[in-house]
Amino acid sequence: MSESCIFCRIAKGEVPSSKVFETEKIFAFKDIEPKAPTHILIIPKEHFSTLNDLENSPALVGEMLCSAAKIAKDFGIEKTGYRTILNCNSDGGQEVYHVHLHLLGGKKLKNPF
Ligand code: 5GP
Ligand code: ZN
Repeated sequence: MSESCIFCRIAKGEVPSSKVFETEKIFAFKDIEPKAPTHILIIPKEHFSTLNDLENSPALVGEMLCSAAKIAKDFGIEKTGYRTILNCNSDGGQEVYHVHLHLLGGKKLKNPF
């Protein structure tokens, strides 16, 4: 699975990315097609396809969200605000099947619904 997964390859450094943050379990990098001035993707280094696979991993999901809060501070958007999005499967609009949390900010975001 990880051989063909673009985000696994990014986390391993096999595919270049603009890294912004890393821990033992988490990797964060700039989205290649940013939808806002700040658009970061936060992923677990281990491959999980969707949020459905993290039902029993609250610590990892928590670390993804806590990483978003830390990165928002690093980018100076914590006071103006930001949005986190985690798309799951087709109806949720997921395109890359390695679970990832979007962090968007730096402008007034429109309601996506
Ligand atoms: P999804 O629709 O799956 O929630 O979001 C996938 C996101 O990954 C999109 O915003 C897309 O721009 C981004 N993306 C896809 N391929 C790459 C890549 O190779 N590098 C980076 N940095 N971002 C990517
Ligand atoms: Zn993967």
